[in-house]
Amino acid sequence: MQLFNSLSQQVEELVPVHAGKVGMYSCGPTVYSNLHIGNLSAFIYADILRRVVRLSGYDVRHVMNITDVDDKTIRDSKAKYPNEEPVQALKKLTDTYTDVFKNDITAVGVDIAAIEFVSAVSAIPDMIKLIQQILDAKVGYVAEGGIYFSVSRYTELGHAYGRLQKIDMTQSMSRIAHDEYDKDQASDFALWKEVTPGEPAWEAQFTVDGQVITMSGRPGWHIECSAMSQMLGVPFDIHTGGIDLKFPHHENEIAQSVAAGATDLAMLFVHNNHILVDGRKMSKSLGNITTLREVEEKGYEPMAFRLLVLESQYRNESNFSWAILEAAANRLKKWQAWADVRYQTYSELEHPMQSIEIESYKQAYILALQDDLSTPQALVEIHSGLEQAMLRGVDKNAKSHYDDFLKAIKDGIGIDLMQSEDIPVEAQKLLQERQAARDAKDWDKSDKLRDTLAERGIKVLDDPVRGQIWQRL
Ligand SMILES: [Zn+2]
Repeated sequence: MQLFNSLSQQVEELVPVHAGKVGMYSCGPTVYSNLHIGNLSAFIYADILRRVVRLSGYDVRHVMNITDVDDKTIRDSKAKYPNEEPVQALKKLTDTYTDVFKNDITAVGVDIAAIEFVSAVSAIPDMIKLIQQILDAKVGYVAEGGIYFSVSRYTELGHAYGRLQKIDMTQSMSRIAHDEYDKDQASDFALWKEVTPGEPAWEAQFTVDGQVITMSGRPGWHIECSAMSQMLGVPFDIHTGGIDLKFPHHENEIAQSVAAGATDLAMLFVHNNHILVDGRKMSKSLGNITTLREVEEKGYEPMAFRLLVLESQYRNESNFSWAILEAAANRLKKWQAWADVRYQTYSELEHPMQSIEIESYKQAYILALQDDLSTPQALVEIHSGLEQAMLRGVDKNAKSHYDDFLKAIKDGIGIDLMQSEDIPVEAQKLLQERQAARDAKDWDKSDKLRDTLAERGIKVLDDPVRGQIWQRL
């Protein structure tokens, strides 16, 4: 299994820190509003990555944080519940959007049962401990408004800063209290923010230069992930997130963990690219966002959106338009119909697909996924394999291989094509009657029975070699 590592800027073999086991951490959502489908793609790619690592024979532990305390959640909880006690208001808002998030990612095929979710609020004691370790290492300091991380002190200790993205270290260092900043310049950032009246806060004690100080407040955003990912043991194997999290978020996560004593945070950083709309990133501020709600309202299955996402390799930008979604939805319908071939198998005389061919499509599909998640190539293999099965039928001795192929599709890319059952007994009887009518050259009756079957959602094709082939409409 190979992945592009943002740390080395190279495709690398996945070599787990602990043989046979892979620890994976994904930066989760900030739960203050509905996600748009651009945000969802990061979680779809993380889900596929975990599936493929598992398919490659590793035991995977996948942890994802829920950011339920930060600048944005606090801002919106104050606005929405002005009369509530601040911690309660925050909980109300973030509980609501945590549920929305889990429902949305489930709808697009993310297996939430395979992920351990951790709420940032629940991990505050771990964050306080970690901040204390950073203070003890003399990389943290107390200043106006809280406790900050000193980037210059960190580099003086011989640690590299700017490992994920080149950072201008020549400018004099500023200090930033906000969670997000996009400047490509190193800045000291907040580890702990002293309480602002009317905002949620938690009691904390820190020892600074032998003196115990009490500072009620709340964590900075970056420390949340350094604290929560520790449950995997550091360094762990794979850290995922959107490309926009490289700096400052992931850079700061690494620095905090290393300052606190870890040799490193993660061996591989895997970053996914954006979805574009008319060449521009999907974002609230540009007013070009689409939500899953709209996708469903327009009559599309959310899984069609998953397929659209997989049509691009995670490192490339992908495009969203309703026409592209329509094409993905049609492709999904075709696959569903082609998967039904497993209920209609043939004998060798009819030259159907044999096990060895099916197996080679399956292997090529898995190899594509293991090659830095080359999902577009994986989809080509799926499409060709299923299409061949539809065109030629599947040998009755190869049925179990075809089932295995469908199962590998479900396990690897999370698209389940095995949900449909065989057609009902009455429909099978109608097909037999129709065959008898055709044998007797009673074309009128044959046509009528074809219409009856169509009314029941079953299309019949007449193949010169294989005879009647049914497809769900
Ligand atoms: Zn994070």
